[in-house]
Amino acid sequence: MAKVFNIALAGNPNAGKTTLFNYLTGARQHVGNYPGVTVEKKEGICQHGGMELRVTDLPGTYSLTAYSVEELVARNFLVNEKPDVVIDIVDASNLERNLYLTCQFMELGVPVIIALNMIDVARHRGIEVDAEKLSSLLGVPVVPLVARSGQGVDLLLDTVLRVVEEKKPYPPLRLSYGDDLDQVLDDMVPLIEQGGLLTDTYPASWTGLKILENDDQILDRAMKADSTLADTLVRRSDEVTSHLQRTVDTYPEAMIADHRYGFIKSILRQGVISQRFDVDRLYTSDRIDKIVTNRFLGPLIMGVILYGLYSFTFNYSALPVDWLASLFGFFGDAVSRVLPDGPIKSMLVSGVIGGVGGVLGFVPIIMFMFLGIAVLEDSGYLARVAFMMDRIFRMFGLHGSSVMPFIVSGGIAGGCAVPGVMATRTLRSPKERLATLLTVPFMNCGAKLPIIALLIGAFFSAHQAQYMFLATVVSWSVALLTAKFLRMTVLRGESTPFVMELPPYRFPTFKGLFIHTWERTWQYIKKAGTVILAISILLWAMMTYPGLPAGKSAQFERQRQEVMAAYAPQGVSAGQEKGRPGQVAESPELAAKLRVIDNREAQAALRNSLAGRMGIALEPISRFAGFDWRTNIALVGGFAAKEVIVSTLGTSYSLGSVDVEHTTSLGERLARDQHWNPIVALAALAFIMFYAPCFVTVVCIARESGSWKWAIFSMAFNTFLAYFLAVAIYQTGMALGLAS
Ligand code: GDP
Ligand code: MG
Repeated sequence: MAKVFNIALAGNPNAGKTTLFNYLTGARQHVGNYPGVTVEKKEGICQHGGMELRVTDLPGTYSLTAYSVEELVARNFLVNEKPDVVIDIVDASNLERNLYLTCQFMELGVPVIIALNMIDVARHRGIEVDAEKLSSLLGVPVVPLVARSGQGVDLLLDTVLRVVEEKKPYPPLRLSYGDDLDQVLDDMVPLIEQGGLLTDTYPASWTGLKILENDDQILDRAMKADSTLADTLVRRSDEVTSHLQRTVDTYPEAMIADHRYGFIKSILRQGVISQRFDVDRLYTSDRIDKIVTNRFLGPLIMGVILYGLYSFTFNYSALPVDWLASLFGFFGDAVSRVLPDGPIKSMLVSGVIGGVGGVLGFVPIIMFMFLGIAVLEDSGYLARVAFMMDRIFRMFGLHGSSVMPFIVSGGIAGGCAVPGVMATRTLRSPKERLATLLTVPFMNCGAKLPIIALLIGAFFSAHQAQYMFLATVVSWSVALLTAKFLRMTVLRGESTPFVMELPPYRFPTFKGLFIHTWERTWQYIKKAGTVILAISILLWAMMTYPGLPAGKSAQFERQRQEVMAAYAPQGVSAGQEKGRPGQVAESPELAAKLRVIDNREAQAALRNSLAGRMGIALEPISRFAGFDWRTNIALVGGFAAKEVIVSTLGTSYSLGSVDVEHTTSLGERLARDQHWNPIVALAALAFIMFYAPCFVTVVCIARESGSWKWAIFSMAFNTFLAYFLAVAIYQTGMALGLAS
């Protein structure tokens, strides 16, 4: 049989009693009424450490007077039922007022544990409470708590067990209530104790205090128990009351309250509370907010700031991006020159340096972007953006706090869905959070930018900026509409209010900015170094093996021999093959012809490779959207990482293009290719912007949503949506004859 203890939850209204009660007892609750009154009484059971705790949720009160039913119910319960422990739930963000009740529990001499609740809210307001100090000053255990998330509940229960096992006495707290009252109390207490007046229910000092406070219930009971003694006490009380009236124009009740507050203040002033920012700053912040979050000026300012972030990022990162590109180009050349031809060299150059280098090349952009965002975040501005956008987001079943994940994922330009998915942790409602993390991959992340820029540059070069802007608008529209769709179907549910406190504005610190920027940049670099490296090598292998059958290779070799023979009428022997460079240098025409054969061979090899076969196998489906097999290879590769799309497309199209000069760019090559036209480009853009998130994002979605179900849903849903859009664009465009 487990030991049974009775626990009461008490505290001010809205301190979180019911939240903690529900967390502790779950479904094992019973709701009734306190006898004779309409005040609700909730009871429940909670098991912890081999004990059974019977928990009662007391009505919320600010005091323990006899003026209200709730207060009477609460104090009667405490003195009649004598719970083993009273958990006093205290709102840490409003400590002074909440401790007023605590103080009275201690005067009543009940075993109290302070549950210092809402430390999250307090922290948000810049209030830090030193629980240990508070505990040692008050002499009762103090456990920090976030009842809403259950953080600290285990420690609280451990403390409950410790206190009930200890069976330490809790002598009533005797404060000083000023000379006059102290003297009277000193006289009263021995009289009450000797007369045994209500002493089996209340401590003598409490009865004395209540008589001074003119408490109806206590006076009543005292009269019934021992009217002579009660009369004597009341007379003393009346004397001091009129004395106080005459001298300081106040009543004992007010005097007592003042001294309780004085006691609390003196405790709080001893370093229990530290305010991280001062009230002045809050005031200044309010004034700034009048302008910055103004209904009309706000969005305008936001536009300017976001545009500033845009240009800051791209202007300042242009140079380092060039440096990095040259650096990796240099590496590639060096490796090409040093290593002999063969699979190792091909893997290092195309797979490792090409793949990882392409990704690392983005580091400066990412870094500047994150630095800009860190400034906005640390200064407190981003919270204002969330605040302003909340109304719009709410229409789509999202929340103001969804803005940040969208921006991080590339809502403005060049983010990444991985930190974006992680940023959804600030959302409290699970459904709003899921709707957000499932739609952030629709943003144009940094990895999609190169391919978007490439296609726009190749097919819509006259209106690049407009198309870029359009891509951003479309990505937001699709994300918001999808969120709305999800919130109306699989994620149906209430929307939660915007409770985020607007933190005061403050100047970001260098250290803070550095840490924020570096954390995120490092995350990105790690991804490039590990995942992308592996993917690049894998893709390189898939595009290289199994290679051409020996017979086919020999056929191409024979063609080369024939061409060379034609240019060297003296006759070419097998041994002279090594002289090819010199011969080629002599005749540009020969070089071109040889390159055509090389390309044909490479194309045949690609077709025969694993990736090539996959691309060809997908053609029956992809042709409705206008994609040929080489595009398919790139798109499949893009699932691994979107960065890979451009490089894969580059490889497959350079290998595939037979007659085109080597020096033309990929964009030009696509523009000239018969498989491509502006409509195909638009369809491809739609597909690339919206199909399955990259592999790393999918893993993150699984981790953050707590189940692979949502990760798989995201892949399937997005790919289907993207395919639908691409087919719609391609078919409509072709039907209208817009292809040329
Ligand atoms: P009661 O009046 O003491 O029963 O308080 P409730 O349990 O009803 O809580 C009042 C409000 O505070 C509810 O909206 C809770 O969700 C919220 N709340 C409770 N505990 C916490 C907490 O630790 N942190 C935050 N942020 N909110 C809390
Ligand atoms: Mg409640």
